[in-house]
Amino acid sequence: MATATTVIEPKVKVTATKLLINGKWVDAASGKTFPTINPSTGEVITQVAEADAADVDKAVAAARAAFEKGAWRKMSASARGVLMNKLADLIEKHAEELAELESLDNGKPYQVALAADLQLTIACYRYYAGWADKIQGKTIPVQGRYFTYTKHEPVGVVGQIIPWNFPLLMQAWKLAPALAAGCTSVLKPAEQTPLTALRVGELMMEAGFPDGVVNILPGYGPTAGAAIARHMDVDKVAFTGSTEVGHLIMRGAADSNLKRVTLELGGKSPNIVFADADMDKAIEGAHFALFFNQGQCCCAGSRLFVEEKCYDEFVAKSVERAKKRTVGNPFDKKTEQGPQVDQDQFNKVMGYIETGKKENAKLLAGGNRVGDKGYFIEPTVFADVQDNMTIAREEIFGPVMSILKFKDISEVVERANKSVYGLAAAVWTQDITKAHAIADGVRAGTVWVNCYDVFDAAAPFGGFKQSGLGRELGEYGLANYTEVKTVTVKL
Ligand code: NAP
Ligand code: MG
Repeated sequence: MATATTVIEPKVKVTATKLLINGKWVDAASGKTFPTINPSTGEVITQVAEADAADVDKAVAAARAAFEKGAWRKMSASARGVLMNKLADLIEKHAEELAELESLDNGKPYQVALAADLQLTIACYRYYAGWADKIQGKTIPVQGRYFTYTKHEPVGVVGQIIPWNFPLLMQAWKLAPALAAGCTSVLKPAEQTPLTALRVGELMMEAGFPDGVVNILPGYGPTAGAAIARHMDVDKVAFTGSTEVGHLIMRGAADSNLKRVTLELGGKSPNIVFADADMDKAIEGAHFALFFNQGQCCCAGSRLFVEEKCYDEFVAKSVERAKKRTVGNPFDKKTEQGPQVDQDQFNKVMGYIETGKKENAKLLAGGNRVGDKGYFIEPTVFADVQDNMTIAREEIFGPVMSILKFKDISEVVERANKSVYGLAAAVWTQDITKAHAIADGVRAGTVWVNCYDVFDAAAPFGGFKQSGLGRELGEYGLANYTEVKTVTVKL
């Protein structure tokens, strides 16, 4: 019996492959290009212009000119908001096309890209569009006959370096608050996933953003990325990616002009399940917390602490769930999990699986490659993981679940906090006292109670400890794109 196919044929055509500098699409100064790969097949999708220091210089000069003079400088705050809303509308109009492009370049399931990435991206631009004309200072009562007020001015030219796990969304998290504040930007997408960033660049030109306000430079981290971090005329750098590169970005700022730095880095987030939790919801929630986006989430619930009393049941059902997860073609509506983003990430994750086996964690599901092309990995579950094992300490960034056992609250809080990271945490329980004890005790920038990966443009996100510096999203995120100026007038 023939069944209707659930596979979508992507119709998207790649239109933007050059650098966007000062409102023009240009080749790299060196003339170099690099391939971007479809991780489902390992095949080249297209060649993209490869920016380096010379292109960064040009883009920074354009962003500086747009910031200091020209249309952007003269535009009212509310007009900036109108432009941002226009961009959000255009992204919405092209949502299916952008979801196809994201799926093709990154490997995430098309349906997920459309339902999650696109919707959050659009909401982020709209949220910050609303802020554009609501950024205001204070009047401050000071001693003596003086009138003192503050202004929240744009920080200036910002360099923004983004990763490949949520290309469109990370671009929105960076550009939206910067534009609302009145900054101009030089943005480098990740080398693995430049295509949607460039397409959004085309939509920005269509929306009518003045030349030089946003410049988009695909290229490599150690060349183009480092040139942004070390540039003497970039006022702030915002980075999302690995903690290792976060250190380099900060050093680049320190060695150059003390540009402002915000960092959103790695994590090893504890996800804590008490025996009194709604078990089915906790199991599905923990599955989602780890496997969402092929496990490529900075806030993945990658240390899954389960209370002794329900441990065996929880492990058995989590293994069952992982084995049911559908892995395959991202353009198949039934697919829950696509490939890892590239060969390097694939190798890294497979390496961690080997390490887990060697260190005697109990492998109960997965552990292998899927198919013989592309970078697909089976949903993998390790139980009886100990705190000191490599897979319990290092960020794997792949579909590998590590389940640990705990006895009581104070023990689990202490163990949860024994990490260089502090990005997120979650707790599953029906006991409000336990929920608050965890929310209070864990050192993490976000705590989810009976849910996971709930994001909203209004709710700040960022890390304690080596998970980062500063916050993104919400009013807190906006503050990182402004400088406070104090003005005092003699009366
Ligand atoms: P990464 O190197 O930190 O990449 C993030 C961004 O930084 C990319 O645009 C990258 O450019 C750029 N970059 C790299 N080296 C740089 C440098 N010296 N100066 C300035 N920018 C630089 O991450 P990755 O190598 O793709 O992934 C490695 C690990 O990082 C993952 O396994 C995961 O653990 C972590 N990671 C975390 C997040 C997160 O959301 N927090 C996201 C991605 C990765 P290229 O495109 O050339 O690399
Ligand atoms: Mg790619």
